[in-house]
Amino acid sequence: MTASAGAFARRWLDMFMSDFDEAKDELGELDRMAGDGDFAINLASALRRTTAVLADLDDRADLSEVFAAASTAFMSTGGTSGPLLGMWLRDIAKAGADGGADPVTALVAGVAAGTATVQRLGGARPGDKTMVDAMVPAAAALTAAQAGGAGLPAALEQAAAAARGGAAATEHITASMGRASYIGEAAVGVTDPGAAAIALFFEAGHRAALTG
Ligand code: ADP
Ligand code: MG
Repeated sequence: MTASAGAFARRWLDMFMSDFDEAKDELGELDRMAGDGDFAINLASALRRTTAVLADLDDRADLSEVFAAASTAFMSTGGTSGPLLGMWLRDIAKAGADGGADPVTALVAGVAAGTATVQRLGGARPGDKTMVDAMVPAAAALTAAQAGGAGLPAALEQAAAAARGGAAATEHITASMGRASYIGEAAVGVTDPGAAAIALFFEAGHRAALTG
């Protein structure tokens, strides 16, 4: 993996941070309606830590090192989302550590592995109204995009559309996992904030891939 893939990973995280900044009130409100209201606070604090660790990282750091740094920042953040997203990012970093792999190959492998890890640790399946509802379709879209010969921007565009679709579908269901599961039918009508954040993440990745 190259320094240019590292620069792309930094742009991606930067764009995610600024998109999150605009969406954070809305995401926080979703967790207030169907959780305990701390989701946006947790994510903001993970992203603040990410900014700090990235500032300390060598300019030539590759994609794997950039995502590994973000992973450590998320891992030390509270809530259910911090450690789960930290483990997800860690698997993306691990896949990127394969020096021969291009970013699309790293993302296909990393997002699939990370999503499997999140499911193993958290026990959620698609349809349980969690971040997994956006991760699973995004992983499938990346695999399909690569099989179709897509480059990085197209692969991420398809992942973003799939994640957005998965997140939107969480609005119409009750939750079987996480705090939203405690309120039964009252969670219907509320999009899962974790899934919405994953959609934002891939949308930022698509834009980062377009601005090389
Ligand atoms: P907490 O529920 O501990 O306050 P956060 O508010 O940080 O955690 O994160 C809430 C998000 O975590 C939810 O929107 C959902 O996407 C995700 N989540 C909750 N439980 C699980 C789980 N078991 N597996 C995967 N994701 C989960
Ligand atoms: Mg919460």
